[in-house]
Amino acid sequence: MRNIVLATSNSSKVAELRSLFLEHGVVDWNVLTPKDLGYSSDAREDGSTFDANATQKAVYFSQLTGLPTVADDSGICVESLHGGPGVFSARWAGRCVDSTQVNERLLNLLRESSNRRAKFLCSLAATFPNKSVVLFRGQCPGSIASCQAGSNGFGYDPIFIPDGFADTFASLNSIEKNRISHRSIAFGEFAAWLATL
Ligand code: IMP
Repeated sequence: MRNIVLATSNSSKVAELRSLFLEHGVVDWNVLTPKDLGYSSDAREDGSTFDANATQKAVYFSQLTGLPTVADDSGICVESLHGGPGVFSARWAGRCVDSTQVNERLLNLLRESSNRRAKFLCSLAATFPNKSVVLFRGQCPGSIASCQAGSNGFGYDPIFIPDGFADTFASLNSIEKNRISHRSIAFGEFAAWLATL
C-alpha cells in the first residue's frame, strides 16, 4: 500500500472522496488526511478558479508531507448570479453561518428569478512531491429547488436538483449521488490516471 494525502479539512468531502476511492476500486492506496498526519495548518485558497485553488492545496500539502497528494476544489455556479457563488462557495456566507442559512440566503436571492439553472463544478489536483500538477475536472448540471429538501450530503446539496432527477442531491443516497456528481466524474478521471502510474 502506498500513502496518498487527501488535501482537505472538509470532513464531508473526506467522507465522499473516501467512498469514491472504494467505489472506483482504488484500493491499493492508503488515504490519509492532513489531520491524520498531525497537520492543522491550511493551504492558501485565494485563486480565481477552481483549478488554481485545487492546485494551491495539492502543492502545499505535498510539500508539507512529502507524499503524493490529491486536492478538491469545488462549488456551485448559479446562472442568474452570473456563475456565483462559484469559487467563493465556501467563503460566500462566512464560515460561522451554517449551511441551512446559506441555502436559505441563496433561495431568497432567486425568489424573483425565472432562471434557476445551476451546476456544480469540481477540480481535483493531483501531484507527487516536486512533480507537476495534473488536473481532473467534473461538472453536474441541474437547477436550484424552490425550497430545501433532503438530509443527506452537505453544503448546497439540499437545494440542488441534478438534471434527470426530481429530488435534490440531499434526497439521494451517497451511492446515487456518487454515480452522477461533479466530484465522482473528476474522480473517475483521476482514478484512471492513478492506474497508469
Ligand atoms: P472548497 O472547495 O473547500 O472551497 O469548498 C467548496 C464549498 O462548495 C463547500 O464548502 C460546499 O459548501 C460547496 N460544495 C462543494 N461540493 C459540494 C457538493 O458536492 N455538495 C454540496 N456542496 C458542495
